[in-house]
Amino acid sequence: MLHPAATPILTAATHGSELAATIHTAEQAATVTLIVTAVAGLYLLTCAVWPFGKCRKCKGVGKFKSPFGKAYRHCPRCKGTGLRVRFGRHIINRIRATRGAGTNSTSKGER
Ligand SMILES: [Zn+2]
Repeated sequence: MLHPAATPILTAATHGSELAATIHTAEQAATVTLIVTAVAGLYLLTCAVWPFGKCRKCKGVGKFKSPFGKAYRHCPRCKGTGLRVRFGRHIINRIRATRGAGTNSTSKGER
């Protein structure tokens, strides 16, 4: 399910890297591709289950305290949530958005 989306990223990752120079046979290339696909698939799976990481700017706190009193302001990057959407989740969201747009135009229509 995730594989068609993962493969363009993989080809982009393997092309132009030193990996390409070390791979000699098609079998080796297939093995490397399989491993990278599996790792990317697992990563996307974890991003589907745990979509958020800590905001890097405020370290997950979501606000910056003023040095005086109890004043504070929200972190501008995460807007006070302290959350950061993980890179893999952005990919999943994009896949879902394109898929949703495709089904909406056909199944839902004007009715
Ligand atoms: Zn933040």
